[in-house]
Amino acid sequence: MIEDIYDITIIGAGPSGLFAGFYAGMRNNKVQILDSLEVAGGQLTALYPEKTIHDVPGYFAVKAETLVADLVKQTSQFGVPIRLSEKVVDISQTADPEVYQIKTTKTTYLSRSVVIATGNGAFTPKALKTDEPSDFDSSKLRYSVTDKTYFAGKDVAVAGGGDSAIDTALMLADVARSVSLIHRRDAFRAHESSVDRLMASNVQVLTPVTIRQISDHQGGLRLTLSDARQLEVDQMVVQYGFLSNNQDIRAWSVKLEMTRHHFVVDSHYQTSSENIYAIGDTAKYEGKLGLIVEGFKEGPHAINQIMEKRHQGRLKHAHSTSLF
Ligand SMILES: Cc1cc2nc3c(=O)[nH]c(=O)nc-3n(C[C@H](O)[C@H](O)[C@H](O)COP(=O)(O)OP(=O)(O)OC[C@H]3O[C@@H](n4cnc5c(N)ncnc54)[C@H](O)[C@@H]3O)c2cc1C
Repeated sequence: MIEDIYDITIIGAGPSGLFAGFYAGMRNNKVQILDSLEVAGGQLTALYPEKTIHDVPGYFAVKAETLVADLVKQTSQFGVPIRLSEKVVDISQTADPEVYQIKTTKTTYLSRSVVIATGNGAFTPKALKTDEPSDFDSSKLRYSVTDKTYFAGKDVAVAGGGDSAIDTALMLADVARSVSLIHRRDAFRAHESSVDRLMASNVQVLTPVTIRQISDHQGGLRLTLSDARQLEVDQMVVQYGFLSNNQDIRAWSVKLEMTRHHFVVDSHYQTSSENIYAIGDTAKYEGKLGLIVEGFKEGPHAINQIMEKRHQGRLKHAHSTSLF
């Protein structure tokens, strides 16, 4: 069903999309946010809800899930709809050159402008691989930790050799009975300080080993490692990283200039198509940093550009202190 025409449609309810949605709502635009996931927050919710972020302005330190909850609250105060479980599958031109049609997995919308805040695209965790075929209770295997209390008092194996694996092992070491970190190399692909904290912790570090096979064992799992050691655990967490997929985006009818994974934008974050902007991790320009604050800056900038253009330059940016 085609609804009314939106001024702005934001694709992606990660931090960049949520803050852009708040800003657009505060400036009285008819705006909506669409996200393919069933929860808002993008990477913060899907990949590291329990981690503490230290470099968001105004927060001394904030848990990722708390930041998302605050962003959702901030955005919702202007009644901006955040439509979840709704993936954008196409954007196309309409007969009116000033209006785009946005097709999702649920319906079709019309919008005068679009802000793409899709991060690295739809992401899925890299799957666990064992050297030999394994058959075991998959409910004992997780790819993210959404609630660390679930692991309280349990024996846990974490697999992986990057920052996420080390951070997860250290985080679980606070609550679990035991944590073993399994990595196929001796060296970790992680910040030196994280590796130092790991080595000083009570996490059992098992390197260089691969996981030969996994089987069920007394309500938990038995891991047979490549050095023939056996490890019995209640739960396993795999942190091999994520595969991002922007193939679907490349199939959109509007053809936007992209580098391998990102949209090329100008100094106002506009893509190669008029009135389609890209912000946050998905936007590429020289000097771009993959930080939350970058998206927080780019969103309001893009929204102001959209509004200035629509009002032929008569409507400049406003201070929030003057708007209420
Ligand atoms: C482990 C880890 C730790 C990090 N720590 C920090 C930190 O301490 N400080 C910091 O500044 N940054 C940190 N980052 C980076 C930070 O998370 C990203 O910069 C930030 O999430 C980018 O936000 P975004 O809104 O641009 O994209 P994302 O958070 O990736 O959100 C994009 C959203 O778009 C949705 N989407 C994608 N395609 C579609 C589609 N076709 N239709 C509908 N929805 C779609 C996705 O479902 C997703 O919800 C960390 C990242 C990781 C992985």
